[in-house]
Amino acid sequence: MSAVVDERRYLIPFRSTLLPQIFCDVLVIGGGVAGMRAAIEAADRGADVIVLTKSPLDRTNTSWAQGGVAGVFEGAADTVEAHVHDTLVAGAGLCDEGVVREVCSAGGAALEEIAAWGMRFDRDGDGTLNAGREGGHSASRVYHAGGDATGVELQRVLTDRVRASEHVRVFLDCFALDMITPSDAEGAPVLGAVTHHPRFGLQMVWAKSTVLASGGAGQVYRETTNPRGATADGIAMAYRAGAAVADMAFVQFHPTVLYVPGAARTLISEAVRGEGAHLLDDAGERFMVGAHDLAELAPRDVVSRAIVARIADQGGGNVWLDCRHMDSFAGRFPGIDAALKRFGLDAARELVPIHPAAHYTVGGVRADLDGRTNVPGLYAVGEASCTGLHGANRLASNSLLEGLVAGARAGAMAADGAGNGSGPPKIVSDIRPSDQGELDLIDVRSSLRSAMWKNVGVERTGAKLRDAVEMLAFWARYTLDKIFDDPEGWEVQNMLLVGSLIARSAAHRDERRGCHWRLDADGPAEPAHHDVWRRGSAEPRAERVRTDGTPGVVVPDRAGVRK
Ligand SMILES: Cc1cc2nc3c(=O)[nH]c(=O)nc-3n(C[C@H](O)[C@H](O)[C@H](O)COP(=O)(O)OP(=O)(O)OC[C@H]3O[C@@H](n4cnc5c(N)ncnc54)[C@H](O)[C@@H]3O)c2cc1C
Repeated sequence: MSAVVDERRYLIPFRSTLLPQIFCDVLVIGGGVAGMRAAIEAADRGADVIVLTKSPLDRTNTSWAQGGVAGVFEGAADTVEAHVHDTLVAGAGLCDEGVVREVCSAGGAALEEIAAWGMRFDRDGDGTLNAGREGGHSASRVYHAGGDATGVELQRVLTDRVRASEHVRVFLDCFALDMITPSDAEGAPVLGAVTHHPRFGLQMVWAKSTVLASGGAGQVYRETTNPRGATADGIAMAYRAGAAVADMAFVQFHPTVLYVPGAARTLISEAVRGEGAHLLDDAGERFMVGAHDLAELAPRDVVSRAIVARIADQGGGNVWLDCRHMDSFAGRFPGIDAALKRFGLDAARELVPIHPAAHYTVGGVRADLDGRTNVPGLYAVGEASCTGLHGANRLASNSLLEGLVAGARAGAMAADGAGNGSGPPKIVSDIRPSDQGELDLIDVRSSLRSAMWKNVGVERTGAKLRDAVEMLAFWARYTLDKIFDDPEGWEVQNMLLVGSLIARSAAHRDERRGCHWRLDADGPAEPAHHDVWRRGSAEPRAERVRTDGTPGVVVPDRAGVRK
């Protein structure tokens, strides 16, 4: 990409033989829906599995999910074909259609499976599953639990199942710094990861297969719905290990995030609008009516841009969500109601101030639906991956579904593909720190997040994107050449790398497509392509979008081709 960002293979110096060694068949980096589902599948096939998670399990993006899991039980009210259609429309010409078909077709079975594992979905009086509706969906097919606590319940069910398996060890509070490869050469396989634990220090975790399930990059933006740990570590470490990273320009902004200065950016689920909440401007006008056929339920990028435009017109920092006419807001959305009440807001009686925030990382490590990447031994799933399901914009509630479907497939592939392996090679990372002075890490982190929000946000221009690319390259010059000894520093280094990838991808895409909205472009550029970035290449490779209905297979490097 650029010399500075691409320079280092590892974040820290180490000698593998001097560190404690741990061995397993399948290493899963990440304990959210994708990682846990992969671990369950690999363990069921008899693999010895380790799951690493740097954050507590109640602080994964998965745990924070509110709206639900999308899926179709074929019948009069809905069809898989309609789900496919809605996903393709949201994806704005950049979905790989075969992947969309496979994921949507697997939705009903995935929902049944987790229900059988004990997921307490909300049900109607007659016991049938209660399906909600969200933006971009033409039918009610979003299944939820605890009203707005789907993520908490899903995380509980998967974690319980993982913990019940004698084949899985879960290492909490364990930070993966980098994936191990025997050399820096193209096609060198991933053999596990270098990790850091506050009590045990650095360790080498050797694995026959490594599944990256480390989630997204929301924290590179000042305004985000994501938890503190969504710092894009996995995408950064995969890139350093030679993995192809695609479509990073596409960051989905959620339109309705509580805007109370000084408060954490609490998401107000799309399901609230699905149940009838309105968006009002300062004059009390429902500005989405007439702006889009689906009014408040238009795709997220459309609603986010309409809000940004309305805020620009009227001044101030927010518009309003009106829930006052809804039946039993607190009963249907107990978690959101409690969060609002912590800020002295009662949605049943007053308007709620909201504005958009970065929500979902659509791009990621290029992988097929079995998690295969171009790097042998490395699988990528969930929000860290880019499988082609979401195209240029994710359809609401498709990500938990993808985590379940791709997680299971990658877990199977990783377990089956875990060969015998030979003994670990000796690996030396011999980097020297720069002789430049101390660094105020908090300042770099907040400058990066502000720059990304202002220059690479909901609305973009070539000039602002190029400014962002230059600014980030400058900060990278004196931040990426340092050696830190704790996660705070490594996270900032990873965020700078991935922020640069997002800004460069957005500058490269001289078009308006999905959630990438260039004010200085007219529409989508044809033919549509995935932009694929590799360490050491200044320019991205354009990869064709698969519209032939086949899911595609990523072939591990040697030649680095996607068939
Ligand atoms: C507020 C909110 C609401 C949402 N609502 C919905 C919804 O209703 N429906 C839907 O489909 N999607 C929703 N999403 C999106 C969805 O939750 C995520 O896309 C999905 O949960 C991602 O799952 P994952 O397993 O890929 O990653 P995550 O659940 O984010 O898990 C990532 C894991 O990786 C670990 N990790 C990261 N870096 C490292 C490292 N360096 N070392 C070790 N471990 C590491 C983390 O600790 C964590 O365990 C929502 C997201 C948010 C933020």
